[in-house]
Amino acid sequence: MILVGTESDIKLFNEDGTRIDGRTVEELRPIKIETDVLNRADGSAMIEWGGNKIMVAVYGPREAYPKHTQDINRAIVKARYNMAAFSVDERKRPGPDRRSMEISKVISEALTSSIMVEKFPRAQIDVTIEVLQADAGTRIAGLTAASVAIAAAGIPMRDFVVGCTAGKVDGHIVLDLCKEEDNFGQADLPVAVLAKSGKVVLMQMDGDLSEDEFNQATDMIMRATKRINQLQREALTTKYSEAIAGGE
Ligand code: ADP
Repeated sequence: MILVGTESDIKLFNEDGTRIDGRTVEELRPIKIETDVLNRADGSAMIEWGGNKIMVAVYGPREAYPKHTQDINRAIVKARYNMAAFSVDERKRPGPDRRSMEISKVISEALTSSIMVEKFPRAQIDVTIEVLQADAGTRIAGLTAASVAIAAAGIPMRDFVVGCTAGKVDGHIVLDLCKEEDNFGQADLPVAVLAKSGKVVLMQMDGDLSEDEFNQATDMIMRATKRINQLQREALTTKYSEAIAGGE
Protein backbone atom coordinates (compact mmCIF):
# COMPACT_ATOMS: atom_id res chain seq x y z
CA MET A 1 0.00 0.00 0.00
CA ILE A 2 1.34 3.46 -0.87
CA LEU A 3 0.48 6.28 1.51
CA VAL A 4 0.46 9.74 -0.03
CA GLY A 5 0.91 12.98 1.91
CA THR A 6 1.37 11.52 5.37
CA GLU A 7 2.98 13.57 8.12
CA SER A 8 6.42 12.04 7.54
CA ASP A 9 6.46 12.88 3.80
CA ILE A 10 6.16 16.61 4.29
CA LYS A 11 9.27 18.57 5.32
CA LEU A 12 8.13 21.44 7.49
CA PHE A 13 11.61 22.65 8.49
CA ASN A 14 14.40 23.85 6.23
CA GLU A 15 18.05 22.85 6.68
CA ASP A 16 18.87 26.29 8.12
CA GLY A 17 16.30 25.86 10.91
CA THR A 18 13.69 28.12 9.35
CA ARG A 19 10.12 27.03 8.72
CA ILE A 20 8.40 26.04 5.50
CA ASP A 21 7.47 29.68 4.83
CA GLY A 22 10.91 30.99 5.85
CA ARG A 23 9.95 32.24 9.32
CA THR A 24 11.89 31.65 12.52
CA VAL A 25 10.17 29.65 15.28
CA GLU A 26 8.89 32.74 17.07
CA GLU A 27 8.05 34.91 14.06
CA LEU A 28 4.50 36.04 13.36
CA ARG A 29 3.04 36.17 9.87
CA PRO A 30 2.39 39.75 8.67
CA ILE A 31 -0.72 41.24 10.32
CA LYS A 32 -2.74 44.23 9.12
CA ILE A 33 -5.86 45.52 10.86
CA GLU A 34 -8.16 48.24 9.55
CA THR A 35 -11.31 49.61 11.20
CA ASP A 36 -14.52 51.22 9.92
CA VAL A 37 -14.47 49.35 6.63
CA LEU A 38 -18.27 48.94 6.41
CA ASN A 39 -20.61 51.95 6.39
CA ARG A 40 -23.74 50.28 7.70
CA ALA A 41 -22.33 48.42 10.69
CA ASP A 42 -21.98 50.13 14.08
CA GLY A 43 -18.39 48.97 14.11
CA SER A 44 -16.28 46.97 11.70
CA ALA A 45 -12.78 45.68 11.10
CA MET A 46 -10.85 43.84 8.45
CA ILE A 47 -7.87 41.73 9.38
CA GLU A 48 -5.25 40.24 7.10
CA TRP A 49 -3.09 37.79 9.00
CA GLY A 50 -0.79 35.78 6.77
CA GLY A 51 -3.11 34.42 4.09
CA ASN A 52 -6.24 34.93 6.23
CA LYS A 53 -8.65 37.67 5.21
CA ILE A 54 -11.50 38.19 7.65
CA MET A 55 -14.21 40.83 7.87
CA VAL A 56 -16.04 41.61 11.12
CA ALA A 57 -19.25 43.63 11.53
CA VAL A 58 -20.72 44.64 14.89
CA TYR A 59 -24.31 45.69 15.50
CA GLY A 60 -25.74 46.87 18.79
CA PRO A 61 -26.31 46.97 21.64
CA ARG A 62 -30.01 46.74 20.79
CA GLU A 63 -32.99 45.01 22.37
CA ALA A 64 -32.43 41.26 22.38
CA TYR A 65 -34.76 39.30 20.17
CA PRO A 66 -36.48 36.83 20.56
CA LYS A 67 -37.46 38.19 23.97
CA HIS A 68 -36.89 34.94 25.87
CA THR A 69 -33.17 35.26 25.08
CA GLN A 70 -32.96 38.50 27.08
CA ASP A 71 -30.93 38.60 30.27
CA ILE A 72 -32.25 41.14 32.78
CA ASN A 73 -28.74 41.69 34.14
CA ARG A 74 -26.60 42.03 31.06
CA ALA A 75 -26.26 42.16 27.30
CA ILE A 76 -25.81 38.89 25.44
CA VAL A 77 -23.04 38.69 22.88
CA LYS A 78 -23.91 36.67 19.80
CA ALA A 79 -20.91 36.01 17.60
CA ARG A 80 -21.41 34.17 14.34
CA TYR A 81 -18.29 32.79 12.65
CA ASN A 82 -18.73 31.79 9.03
CA MET A 83 -16.31 30.56 6.38
CA ALA A 84 -17.23 31.62 2.84
CA ALA A 85 -17.54 28.78 0.31
CA PHE A 86 -14.61 30.27 -1.63
CA SER A 87 -12.37 30.78 1.42
CA VAL A 88 -10.64 27.38 1.20
CA ASP A 89 -8.97 25.31 -1.54
CA GLU A 90 -11.93 23.07 -2.19
CA ARG A 91 -15.25 24.86 -2.14
CA LYS A 92 -16.75 24.59 1.35
CA ARG A 93 -20.40 23.67 1.67
CA PRO A 94 -22.13 26.94 2.65
CA GLY A 95 -23.92 27.36 5.95
CA PRO A 96 -23.24 26.51 9.57
CA ASP A 97 -21.61 23.23 10.59
CA ARG A 98 -20.41 21.78 13.88
CA ARG A 99 -17.03 23.48 13.61
CA SER A 100 -18.45 26.96 12.92
CA MET A 101 -21.02 26.57 15.71
CA GLU A 102 -18.31 25.60 18.18
CA ILE A 103 -16.10 28.52 17.12
CA SER A 104 -19.04 30.95 17.34
CA LYS A 105 -19.70 29.77 20.89
CA VAL A 106 -16.12 30.07 22.16
CA ILE A 107 -15.71 33.48 20.49
CA SER A 108 -18.99 34.73 22.03
CA GLU A 109 -17.79 33.68 25.48
CA ALA A 110 -14.36 35.26 25.03
CA LEU A 111 -15.86 38.58 23.88
CA THR A 112 -18.43 38.59 26.70
CA SER A 113 -15.64 38.67 29.27
CA SER A 114 -14.12 41.77 27.65
CA ILE A 115 -17.30 43.85 27.22
CA MET A 116 -19.09 45.76 30.02
CA VAL A 117 -22.19 43.70 29.37
CA GLU A 118 -23.75 44.70 32.71
CA LYS A 119 -24.29 48.21 31.34
CA PHE A 120 -26.84 46.92 28.81
CA PRO A 121 -29.49 44.70 30.42
CA ARG A 122 -31.85 42.93 28.00
CA ALA A 123 -29.69 43.94 25.04
CA GLN A 124 -27.88 41.95 22.41
CA ILE A 125 -24.64 42.66 20.60
CA ASP A 126 -24.21 40.90 17.25
CA VAL A 127 -20.74 40.15 15.95
CA THR A 128 -20.54 38.70 12.46
CA ILE A 129 -17.21 37.19 11.47
CA GLU A 130 -16.86 36.34 7.79
CA VAL A 131 -13.77 34.42 6.75
CA LEU A 132 -13.14 35.39 3.13
CA GLN A 133 -9.84 33.57 2.81
CA ALA A 134 -8.64 30.93 5.28
CA ASP A 135 -5.02 30.05 6.00
CA ALA A 136 -5.04 28.59 9.56
CA GLY A 137 -5.64 30.46 12.78
CA THR A 138 -8.92 31.95 11.60
CA ARG A 139 -10.72 31.69 14.96
CA ILE A 140 -7.98 33.70 16.66
CA ALA A 141 -7.65 36.22 13.83
CA GLY A 142 -11.45 36.64 13.75
CA LEU A 143 -11.63 37.12 17.52
CA THR A 144 -8.73 39.60 17.53
CA ALA A 145 -10.42 41.65 14.79
CA ALA A 146 -13.82 41.39 16.52
CA SER A 147 -12.40 43.09 19.60
CA VAL A 148 -11.23 46.01 17.44
CA ALA A 149 -14.64 46.22 15.70
CA ILE A 150 -16.39 46.31 19.10
CA ALA A 151 -14.13 49.15 20.24
CA ALA A 152 -14.81 50.95 16.94
CA ALA A 153 -18.55 50.60 17.61
CA GLY A 154 -17.99 52.55 20.85
CA ILE A 155 -19.16 49.66 23.03
CA PRO A 156 -17.55 49.97 26.47
CA MET A 157 -14.93 47.29 27.04
CA ARG A 158 -12.90 46.30 30.07
CA ASP A 159 -10.00 45.27 27.88
CA PHE A 160 -9.08 44.06 24.40
CA VAL A 161 -9.25 40.38 23.57
CA VAL A 162 -6.12 39.39 21.69
CA GLY A 163 -4.94 35.96 20.66
CA CYS A 164 -2.38 33.89 18.86
CA THR A 165 -1.69 30.22 18.25
CA ALA A 166 1.40 28.15 18.83
CA GLY A 167 1.99 24.52 18.11
CA LYS A 168 4.40 21.69 17.53
CA VAL A 169 5.88 21.10 14.12
CA ASP A 170 8.55 18.47 13.43
CA GLY A 171 9.22 18.35 17.17
CA HIS A 172 9.75 22.15 17.48
CA ILE A 173 7.47 24.55 19.32
CA VAL A 174 6.56 27.33 16.88
CA LEU A 175 4.42 30.47 16.95
CA ASP A 176 1.47 31.22 14.65
CA LEU A 177 1.02 28.10 12.52
CA CYS A 178 0.49 28.48 8.77
CA LYS A 179 -1.77 26.13 6.79
CA GLU A 180 0.81 23.40 6.12
CA GLU A 181 1.97 23.46 9.73
CA ASP A 182 -1.61 23.28 10.96
CA ASN A 183 -2.41 20.36 8.63
CA PHE A 184 0.75 18.31 9.09
CA GLY A 185 2.08 19.45 12.50
CA GLN A 186 1.69 17.54 15.75
CA ALA A 187 -0.20 20.08 17.85
CA ASP A 188 -2.11 23.35 17.54
CA LEU A 189 -2.89 25.57 20.53
CA PRO A 190 -5.06 28.64 19.94
CA VAL A 191 -5.15 30.97 22.96
CA ALA A 192 -6.79 34.35 23.55
CA VAL A 193 -6.31 36.60 26.57
CA LEU A 194 -7.45 39.93 27.94
CA ALA A 195 -4.60 42.22 26.90
CA LYS A 196 -3.91 44.01 30.19
CA SER A 197 -4.56 41.30 32.75
CA GLY A 198 -3.37 38.35 30.65
CA LYS A 199 -6.47 36.42 31.78
CA VAL A 200 -7.12 33.50 29.43
CA VAL A 201 -10.53 33.74 27.72
CA LEU A 202 -10.08 31.07 25.04
CA MET A 203 -7.87 28.02 24.96
CA GLN A 204 -8.28 24.97 22.77
CA MET A 205 -5.84 22.28 21.81
CA ASP A 206 -5.54 19.86 18.95
CA GLY A 207 -2.82 17.19 19.34
CA ASP A 208 -0.46 16.55 22.26
CA LEU A 209 2.10 18.66 24.10
CA SER A 210 4.18 17.77 27.15
CA GLU A 211 4.00 20.13 30.14
CA ASP A 212 7.32 21.75 29.13
CA GLU A 213 6.20 22.18 25.55
CA PHE A 214 2.90 23.62 26.68
CA ASN A 215 4.70 26.18 28.87
CA GLN A 216 7.05 27.09 26.04
CA ALA A 217 4.10 27.53 23.67
CA THR A 218 2.08 29.68 26.06
CA ASP A 219 5.13 31.87 26.83
CA MET A 220 5.55 32.50 23.09
CA ILE A 221 1.85 33.28 22.75
CA MET A 222 1.89 35.73 25.67
CA ARG A 223 4.84 37.61 24.15
CA ALA A 224 3.10 37.72 20.77
CA THR A 225 -0.19 39.02 22.17
CA LYS A 226 1.63 42.14 23.43
CA ARG A 227 2.74 42.93 19.87
CA ILE A 228 -0.64 42.11 18.36
CA ASN A 229 -2.46 44.26 20.92
CA GLN A 230 -0.24 47.14 19.83
CA LEU A 231 -1.54 46.64 16.25
CA GLN A 232 -5.14 46.60 17.55
CA ARG A 233 -4.58 49.92 19.30
CA GLU A 234 -2.81 51.44 16.31
CA ALA A 235 -5.71 50.44 14.02
CA LEU A 236 -8.06 52.48 16.21
CA THR A 237 -5.79 55.48 16.78
CA THR A 238 -4.96 55.76 13.06
CA LYS A 239 -8.66 56.02 12.33
CA TYR A 240 -9.28 58.59 15.05
CA SER A 241 -6.34 60.77 14.11
CA GLU A 242 -7.47 60.66 10.47
CA ALA A 243 -10.95 61.76 11.56
CA ILE A 244 -9.53 64.63 13.62
CA ALA A 245 -7.20 65.70 10.80
CA GLY A 246 -10.14 65.61 8.40
CA GLY A 247 -12.20 67.80 10.77
CA GLU A 248 -14.92 65.15 11.23
P1 ADP B 1 -8.44 27.71 12.66
O1 ADP B 1 -8.74 28.37 11.35
O2 ADP B 1 -8.93 28.51 13.81
O3 ADP B 1 -7.00 27.33 12.79
P2 ADP B 1 -8.94 24.88 12.33
O4 ADP B 1 -7.72 24.45 13.06
O5 ADP B 1 -10.21 24.10 12.53
O6 ADP B 1 -9.31 26.39 12.71
O7 ADP B 1 -8.67 24.94 10.77
C1 ADP B 1 -7.41 25.20 10.25
C2 ADP B 1 -7.51 25.58 8.80
O8 ADP B 1 -8.03 24.49 8.05
C3 ADP B 1 -8.47 26.73 8.51
O9 ADP B 1 -7.91 27.99 8.74
C4 ADP B 1 -8.76 26.50 7.06
O10 ADP B 1 -7.70 27.00 6.25
C5 ADP B 1 -8.79 24.98 6.97
N1 ADP B 1 -10.18 24.48 7.05
C6 ADP B 1 -10.98 24.46 8.11
N2 ADP B 1 -12.21 23.97 7.80
C7 ADP B 1 -12.18 23.67 6.50
C8 ADP B 1 -13.11 23.12 5.56
N3 ADP B 1 -14.36 22.80 5.91
N4 ADP B 1 -12.69 22.93 4.29
C9 ADP B 1 -11.44 23.25 3.92
N5 ADP B 1 -10.52 23.78 4.73
C10 ADP B 1 -10.86 23.98 6.00
